[in-house]
Amino acid sequence: MTKKLNIVPFVSVDHMMKLVLEIGVEKMLVEMADYIEADFKRWELFDKTPRVASHSPEGVIELMPTSDGEVYGFKYVNGHPSNTKQGLQTVTAFGVLSNVNNGYPVLISEMTILTALRTAATSALVARYLAPKGSTTMAMIGNGAQSEFQALAFKSIVGIKNLRLYDIDSIATDKCMENLKNYGFTITRCTSAEEAVQGADIITTVTADKQYATILTDDMVGSAVHINAIGGDCPGKTELHKDILLRSEIFVEYTPQTRIEGELQQLNADHKVTEMWEVMTGVAPGRVNKEQITLFDSVGFATEDFSALRYVRDQLERTGLYQDLDMLADPDTPRDLFGMLLRAADKG
Ligand code: NAD
Repeated sequence: MTKKLNIVPFVSVDHMMKLVLEIGVEKMLVEMADYIEADFKRWELFDKTPRVASHSPEGVIELMPTSDGEVYGFKYVNGHPSNTKQGLQTVTAFGVLSNVNNGYPVLISEMTILTALRTAATSALVARYLAPKGSTTMAMIGNGAQSEFQALAFKSIVGIKNLRLYDIDSIATDKCMENLKNYGFTITRCTSAEEAVQGADIITTVTADKQYATILTDDMVGSAVHINAIGGDCPGKTELHKDILLRSEIFVEYTPQTRIEGELQQLNADHKVTEMWEVMTGVAPGRVNKEQITLFDSVGFATEDFSALRYVRDQLERTGLYQDLDMLADPDTPRDLFGMLLRAADKG
């Protein structure tokens, strides 16, 4: 694709949007879920570390690195729940893939849209393993930026047909309903989280608040349900009452990170959890009976971003939806970096 190693393909927001529209959002979610699943299945190959977080009173900025030994990847991502009040996104991101053998980047990409896609694809992939068989109804509490992506992933990967929506801000629900009106869902607008969860096979919590929130209390959650808890993803930022966790079988991405960031921060450090790669490779069971509450305590892990970047990289040659970035200084003689500067001065 790129002939010169100093030129790195860059996928801008504009190109990412064109890529999603060209492939189709639902097809892309399905295909990306396959990449994410393939990487979970080769879990032991990956370098794994909890993400590196820099906290402030307003939010967090995080770096999420991993490598499979051949390719290295990282994502820069922020989470600032009060940003929307100033017309800014809660979550923005960009990411890089590099060759491990020479350290040169091979892709730079926007990842704000890609994060929404990969988070939704991961949620739905996990639910395909854990949710009650034949699930058709999902409650979605929090109708912000992630919500439509979540809905469409659950439609195309799990078979969700009915959505029950609730947000403390009715404008967010209006937006979500409007955006999803042509995707074939039956949508019910609810006036409380309690109403939203009525009759739901799957409950998705995808709210943003930098506090220990209680979006769901224990009395709201019956049996035979799968909870997809997305918004508790930072120290001091959770969504579920502790008693729900104590009644649930808890599934996580990478335990050391989830114990710091997930709903798990509310439980003892030795509370039993199952990592999703174990379920996907058959090492551990997923749902073992219909009545169980399964809980995906999602925080978002580096391998999912790596998979999403891999997916994007694999689309570039066919679609041409990238631009060349003059990214790396490339002197004719490798050690003559200063000489390259002098020759540029001579050229005027
Ligand atoms: P957003 O700010 O666009 O939307 C959040 C919505 O939650 C808003 O509409 C807000 O009104 C609503 N909300 C807040 N408190 C609520 C409450 N008590 N009840 C009902 N609704 C409430 O944010 P977003 O980009 O959609 O992200 C949502 C959450 O998902 C954030 O917390 C973000 O950090 C998290 N997230 C997690 C992952 C992951 O991999 N687990 C990935 C991306 C985002």
